[in-house]
Amino acid sequence: MSTPSNPKGVPLLDLKAQYEQVGPQIEQLALSVLRSGHYILGAVGKQLEESVAEICGTKYGVGVANGTDALELALWAANVGPGDEVITPSFTFAATAEAIAMRGARPVFIEVDPVTFNIDPEAIKSLVNAKTRAIIPVHLYGQSADMEPIMAFAERFGLKVIEDNAQAIGATYKGKPTGSFGHMSCISFYPTKNLGAAGDAGMIVTDDAELADRLRALRAHGMRTRYYHDEVGINSRLDEIQAAVLMAKLPHLKEWNEKRNEIAKWYAQAFKNVQGIIIPQVALRRSHVWHQYTIRVASTGAGRAAINRDDLAKELAARGIGSMCYYPVPCHLQKAFSQYGYRRGDLPVSELLAGEVLSLPMYPEMQEWHVKTVVGAIQEIINARMVAGFVPAPSVVAPI
Ligand SMILES: *Cc1c(COP(=O)(O)O)cnc(C)c1O
Repeated sequence: MSTPSNPKGVPLLDLKAQYEQVGPQIEQLALSVLRSGHYILGAVGKQLEESVAEICGTKYGVGVANGTDALELALWAANVGPGDEVITPSFTFAATAEAIAMRGARPVFIEVDPVTFNIDPEAIKSLVNAKTRAIIPVHLYGQSADMEPIMAFAERFGLKVIEDNAQAIGATYKGKPTGSFGHMSCISFYPTKNLGAAGDAGMIVTDDAELADRLRALRAHGMRTRYYHDEVGINSRLDEIQAAVLMAKLPHLKEWNEKRNEIAKWYAQAFKNVQGIIIPQVALRRSHVWHQYTIRVASTGAGRAAINRDDLAKELAARGIGSMCYYPVPCHLQKAFSQYGYRRGDLPVSELLAGEVLSLPMYPEMQEWHVKTVVGAIQEIINARMVAGFVPAPSVVAPI
């Protein structure tokens, strides 16, 4: 067991603790790759593509350099380009919208549901027009978006669906894995994700043989036969060393996700009597893989917390407890996307969440005392403010 540097503290995540568990297998596999002399698009990457496709309930996997490239390549393979619109939530990591912008298309930001943090399917209808080509739902924090109505809308309007499954590998919706619903689904193996490489890596999974073939060409300079370029592509490949790290970790993914679920239950239990904290909920017939355990520090109404999110994060840090706000500015208010003309007030739920969310320590090696330490600290901090009769200022949702 690893000991945090502050014995009473709890880090946001602890990748070293995971390495202690799987280090020998990783080192063995990585060493055999190093000794093989085959470093790009080899046998280990192929195994990984097959294994991840299987987890996602799809036929094909195409390994790429990272999750952002996976999104951009998926849009590319779907022929999304200038003049097209793609519907995606504003309340997500910016890479989702960035991939759309990189293709020259326009991200059309959709509101999210305040309980699941995912696309509100009801909002799709009012955003679809003749330019709409695709929808990218994001399975934020590890819980599936409401895929059935999303797929129904997509079918009705002839749209492609690309799942952003960067945070939810292993999660299910009505018994089927995330990644199995869309025409293509994108995964990130960024080190902090539930299945993380020792560097950057990503994958697109699909059931469509033609899309898989196009993606394989696009990730390697548009080549199907070496040095015969069918179209302009890019260089975005998942290397053999990263594939080895991921193959060594893969057998543990299910057990790690189950452990995260147990930790989430400890949190829910511990939070029972803490005022002003809204804990995350799992919607009916969905399983959550808890990439993040994200609370809302309520900022409005009678049930609001006696402290704002930013001050709570600061006080936790002072006690050696890690926390992080994913994400403090919704995409529609980011400077990077200002050319799309959104204004404050356009997506009130996304803006509210950006000022309230706080992700707490979550990693499979956590023990119950860690959870009790985190929640105990939050309870103490809030109690102290309540005694002081402090009225919190809301957290700042910055740009634009
Ligand atoms: C991590 C992440 C990405 C990007 O993946 P990278 O591998 O970091 O490029 C995209 N979307 C979401 C929701 C993510 O969490």
